[in-house]
Amino acid sequence: MEEQLRELGLEFTKEVREDFVNFRADPLAVVYPRSEEDVIKLVNFAREKKIPIVPWGAGTSLTGAVACKGCILVDMRYMSSILEINEVDWYARVQPGVNLGKLNEELSKRGFFFPPDPASFFLCTVGGAVANSSGGMRGVRYGTFREWVLALRVVLSSGEVIRVGEPLRKNRAGYDLVHLFVGSEGTLGIITEVWLRIIPTPRQRLVALVGYVSSLDSVAGIIIDMRRSGILPEIAEYVDDEVIRALNEHLNAGLRKSGGGILLLRVDEPDSERMREILRRWGVEAEVLNDEEWERMYSLRSQSALALKASAESMYVEDIVVPVSRLVEAVRRLRDLERKYNVRMPVIAHIGDGNLHPNILLERSEDADKIFDEVARLAVELGGSVSGEHGIGIQKAKVMGEQITSHSGKRVLEIMNGIKRLIDPESIMNPGKYVELAYEINRSEERRSSS
Ligand SMILES: Cc1cc2nc3c(=O)[nH]c(=O)nc-3n(C[C@H](O)[C@H](O)[C@H](O)COP(=O)(O)OP(=O)(O)OC[C@H]3O[C@@H](n4cnc5c(N)ncnc54)[C@H](O)[C@@H]3O)c2cc1C
Repeated sequence: MEEQLRELGLEFTKEVREDFVNFRADPLAVVYPRSEEDVIKLVNFAREKKIPIVPWGAGTSLTGAVACKGCILVDMRYMSSILEINEVDWYARVQPGVNLGKLNEELSKRGFFFPPDPASFFLCTVGGAVANSSGGMRGVRYGTFREWVLALRVVLSSGEVIRVGEPLRKNRAGYDLVHLFVGSEGTLGIITEVWLRIIPTPRQRLVALVGYVSSLDSVAGIIIDMRRSGILPEIAEYVDDEVIRALNEHLNAGLRKSGGGILLLRVDEPDSERMREILRRWGVEAEVLNDEEWERMYSLRSQSALALKASAESMYVEDIVVPVSRLVEAVRRLRDLERKYNVRMPVIAHIGDGNLHPNILLERSEDADKIFDEVARLAVELGGSVSGEHGIGIQKAKVMGEQITSHSGKRVLEIMNGIKRLIDPESIMNPGKYVELAYEINRSEERRSSS
């Protein structure tokens, strides 16, 4: 194969990689396309040889979405140009390998802003974040990548290139294929160009607050009261005391422990007094942060998962979403699970939109898998979702299948699998994961129960 890749003029290395949570990619080769033409050549080659192709952005995936064996890993790092920043039509056109943090730096020089900010923004690529439909700390106000992608160029497994969507704020032409590819986790094609909606840097004054709370239960209550009183924060994040311990130990954060962790809020100035009043009702005297203190807190919050990872050999990162109205119940049930299995699950949360990341600090094992699945099921039972932003990969396929069949019906899972077969009939694009895997698991469970 090496000879053939050389003949095609494709750069490659041979190496084994691991993603952030140690899922392993053991590919035949890692190929580094420098252009869309390179991607097409590679896809045609892989299809003819029936070799699975797995796109790799920065490998910060948390679900096994970039794991593989005997595949070709397509590392997009050299397709990293910002092609256009359109200051009238308000979009940025970029190659997929561009670093998200770098894009926002360039945008801010021109008075623009791209809101979704996964805590991995300083590491991750735009292509990976689009393919994962990433969210982040500003999700409570601005949503996830799904709301911000206008159009895409994609190389399909046939070697054809399609452009879906238009770089327009409004477009009603046909089925919404853009949002089919956003969040498709590399299973439908390789994204080679992205048009992102951008907005002028917001001018309203924001007030940053930090509250040291006595329990996660009270945080849930605060958030529910905040929503009830109509306050839409820009940021409402939470880390518990265990995460604070990791931040203090590994990043010298010097944060105080209060028994229940830290609630970090940024609200519009006119809402700040009301927000502080809500916090007071829950016994929390919030501190107002100046810009420098805010930047530091925001940065520490972004690095929370890194700090936690540094204190554990292995880590499972959950990503459940529950309706905000059911946060209190969700928190109690998490604590019940901790007691049942005698494990601590330090929580990092985009608490303002009901997106919780309980982290299971255990070696990968059947027991740990069981706890992981039970946490996900708790969300499904409360009318929530097994993933808000990290995606599904291998790790959550089973529980995603359960969510879809119980909330939407089996037919919806069949339709999703049909779409995969239509677009990638030979299943060479990141195969055996996500929808395809969920569908297979569901079918084999049905067979087992009917025999
Ligand atoms: C410390 C840390 C904090 C995180 N915080 C958040 C958070 O707050 N919010 C959040 O949503 N996520 C978070 N994540 C998860 C992850 O970082 C994001 O989802 C990120 O956007 C993935 O980007 P990546 O470039 O690393 O993609 P990768 O991990 O390389 O890939 C992700 C998926 O996209 C596919 N892919 C990559 N490039 C392409 C392409 N060009 N075409 C088609 N498919 C492609 C891959 O095959 C894979 O399925 C965090 C991860 C870490 C390590």
